[in-house]
Amino acid sequence: MLDVTATAFGPAELLHRLRARSSSAAQSPITHVEQVTARAGRVAEWPAWADPATRDAFVGQGVTAPWAHQAAAATLAWQGDHVVLATGTASGKSLAYQLPALTRLATDPRATVLYLAPTKALAADQLRSLTRLGLDGVRPATLDGDTQREEREWIRQHSRFVLTNPDMLHHALLPAHNRWAIFFRRLSYVVIDECHAYRGVFGSHVSHVLRRLRRVAARYGSDPTFVLASATSGDPAGSASRLIGAPVTAVTDDASPRGAMTFALWEPPLLPPEPAEPPTFVPGARASPEAELDLENMPPVRRSALRETADLLTDAVVAGTRTLAFVRSRRGAEVVATVARRSLDEVVPGLGARVAAYRGGYLREDRRAIERALLSGELLGLASTNALELGVDLAGLDAVLICGWPGTRASLWQQAGRAGRAGGEALAVLIARDDPLDTYLVHHPEALFGRPVEATVLDPANPYVLGPQLCCAASEAPLTETDLELFGGAAARATIGALVEQGALRKRPSGWYWTERGRPDVDLRGTGGAPVQVVEASTGRLLGTVDHGSSHVMLHEGAVYLHQGVTYLVDELDLEDAIALVHQEEPDWTTHARDVTEVAVVHVRSYVDAGPVGLFLGDVDVTSQVVSYQRRRLGSGEVIDTRPLDLPVRELRTVAVWFTVSPQALAAAGVEWADVPGALHAAEHAGIGLLPLIATCDRWDIGGLSTANHPDTEAPTVFVYDGHPGGAGFAERAYSTAAAWLRATREAIGSCGCESGCPSCVQSPKCGNGNNPLDKAAAVRVLATVLDALPPD
Ligand SMILES: [Zn+2]
Ligand SMILES: [Zn+2]
Repeated sequence: MLDVTATAFGPAELLHRLRARSSSAAQSPITHVEQVTARAGRVAEWPAWADPATRDAFVGQGVTAPWAHQAAAATLAWQGDHVVLATGTASGKSLAYQLPALTRLATDPRATVLYLAPTKALAADQLRSLTRLGLDGVRPATLDGDTQREEREWIRQHSRFVLTNPDMLHHALLPAHNRWAIFFRRLSYVVIDECHAYRGVFGSHVSHVLRRLRRVAARYGSDPTFVLASATSGDPAGSASRLIGAPVTAVTDDASPRGAMTFALWEPPLLPPEPAEPPTFVPGARASPEAELDLENMPPVRRSALRETADLLTDAVVAGTRTLAFVRSRRGAEVVATVARRSLDEVVPGLGARVAAYRGGYLREDRRAIERALLSGELLGLASTNALELGVDLAGLDAVLICGWPGTRASLWQQAGRAGRAGGEALAVLIARDDPLDTYLVHHPEALFGRPVEATVLDPANPYVLGPQLCCAASEAPLTETDLELFGGAAARATIGALVEQGALRKRPSGWYWTERGRPDVDLRGTGGAPVQVVEASTGRLLGTVDHGSSHVMLHEGAVYLHQGVTYLVDELDLEDAIALVHQEEPDWTTHARDVTEVAVVHVRSYVDAGPVGLFLGDVDVTSQVVSYQRRRLGSGEVIDTRPLDLPVRELRTVAVWFTVSPQALAAAGVEWADVPGALHAAEHAGIGLLPLIATCDRWDIGGLSTANHPDTEAPTVFVYDGHPGGAGFAERAYSTAAAWLRATREAIGSCGCESGCPSCVQSPKCGNGNNPLDKAAAVRVLATVLDALPPD
C-alpha cells in the first residue's frame, strides 16, 4: 500500500487546496464559507420520577446525565403531554422517549409501549439499543412483514415494547384488534420515530392510521401519550399535531454538544459558451464514465456536479484527507469513484486503489469491511449513496462532500455529521447540482444555517385518503358521530355521505357499518390506480414498480428506464394489466415525454385580492395526455427525432395554488406581450423547483401550467398543483407562505449567472413542452410585480 502522508491539513487549508484547482475560472466556485462553531453540551439532572433501574442502565451505557432537551421532553411525556422532540441528528432523541416509556413499564407491570419507525433498519437499531439496556420484563421485539407466525404469537402474548411500522399497524394490528385487545388496553406510550418521514399522501394515510389507533385504544379504555422524534423543521408542533390529530408540544432547544465545522457552498462554474465537442459513441458499447458525468446536464451549461465531486474527491485524497462523498444515485456513486480512481492513478500509480464506491446491494459483511478500511485509513476516499445504508458508527472523517442538495436539512446535517472527530475540526462541502433549489441554496446560506423554513406537510382532509381510511376504520368497528370529529369533522361527514351513496358503508342507528365481507384493500402510499410493474420481458424478473400517475411519462413505449444504474428500453406498456415489459439496452440517447395539459378551476377555497395580482388556493381538474416523446443524444442533448404515442387522456382532481397578473401590470413592468408565455413558463418551472424549500416534497410530486390567458381566470396565470388526487398539502403550504416562496423563486433565477436560462434556474427536466418558450429575464420581472403587490408574510 502506498503511504500518503497522514493528514496534516486543517479544514481551512484543505479548502484552500480545493479552491486552488479552480483558480483559473473567472469566479470562485465557493459562494459561501460558514464557520459552524463548537457548542458545549448542557446536561440536566435525572428527573426525580425516573425509575432507578432504568436510570442505572443508562448510566451503565455511559450516559451519566441527560442533555437538557432530553430531560425536558421526557418529563412532558411523563406528565402525559403529547410531545415532539425536534433536534439535530445524533442529539440523542431515543433517551427522551425510552426514559418515560421504560419507567412506565417498570412501575406498571401490565403497561405496554408501541414504537413505530418508517424503516425496518431503524426498528432494528432501536431493538439493539433496548436490548443493550438489559432491563427485565420489557421483552422488546420487532414485528414486521418477515416475522414468522409463531414469533408473532409470542410477541402478541409477551412483548411489552413492540417495534413495528405504520404498514403493519394498518394491515395487521388494527384489523386484528380483538386478538391484540390486551396489548391495546394497556397501551401507555406510542413512539413515532423519524416522524418527518410521514409527509404527502403517505403522511396523510398514516395520520388516519394513527387516528384509528387512538380510536381502538379508547375502545379498550386506554389513552396513550404520543412521543414523536423529528428532524428540525419549520413547524414541528404544527406538523406533529396534524399527524396525530391532537395538540402536541414541541421541544426544539438542542442541548447536545457539537464539534466545529467549516461548511463551504460550491457552485460548479459555467462552461465556455462555444458548443462542446459532442462525445463520440461506439454503438452498443457502454458509455464511458466521463460521458456519464454529463448525463445530468441537458445540454451541459455548467460543469456537472458529479464531475466536480470526482475532482474534489481526487484532490482531497491527494492531500491525504479521509473523505466521504455523498452522491444521490447509485450509478453516480460508481462513476465518481471510477473517475477519481483514474485521476489518482495518473498522479501516483496505485493511489486509485485507495478510493472505493459504496452503495446498497452490497452484502452486509462487504459494507462493514469497506467501513473499517475507511476508518483505519487504508481507504482514503469513498463515494456513497445515502447515509442510511452506512454503518451507524461511521463518523470521524476529515471531510464530507455532498453532491447535490439531499432534499432536506435533516439529510444534509446527517451527511455532514459524518465528518469531525471528537475535538477535531471538519470540512463539509455542498456542491450544487443544476437545479433551481440548489442554485438558491448556495447563494442563500441563511436558508441552510439560519432558522429552518421547510415544513413536513400532509393533508388528512384529502377525500381520496379519507374515504378509504374511513372504510378501514368502519371495518374495525362501526363509526359513530363522535368518531367523525376524530377523523376531521366536516370533511369526514362529507366523505361518509359519499361512501354511503356508493354503498361502501351502511348507516344503521348504532353507526356506519362496512358492508363487505373482506377488509378494504388500501395502500398507504397511493391515491391513484395500481402501481405499474416493470418486468424484464426475457426473464420475467420484476425490476420495480412505478406509481400509476407517473407511468405514462416514465414507461411509455420506447422510454429509456433506469433501474439501479442499469438502462432498459420499454417495449410495451400494458395499462390494463399495469405492466411494462422492458429489455436491457444501452442506447446513446435519452427520452423525454411531451404532454398536453389543461387545468380547469372547480372551486376557489381562499384568495388574496392584491390589486393587479391575485393569489388563489382551490380545487382544480387537471387533464393531461402524453402525446409524443423526443429522443435526445446523450451528452449533447441534440434532438434525434420526435415519435408519436397513443396514450389515453388522464384526469386528476387535485388542489392548486395559482397567481394571476393583469396584462397592464405586466406591460408596466416591461414585459412585452409576446414574452408573457415564456416569462410565466419560466416562473412556473422555477417556482416548482423551489417549493421543496418550504414544504418537504420532491419536485416530481408537483405539476404546473402557465398561460397568457386562462379561460377561468381571464388573465395571465401560473398554476402549481399537487400531483396526487385530492392533494397532498404542498399547494396549500405554498399558498400560505406565498411571499417567501415566490421571493426565493425570484432570487434563484436572478442569482444564476447563465445567459438566457439553464437547468440551474428555469429549465426543467420534466417539462412536457421541451422547455419552450422560456424567458428568464422577463420571469424575474413577473415575480417582482407579484411580490410588490402581495402583502408580506
Ligand atoms: Zn441559469
Ligand atoms: Zn414546462
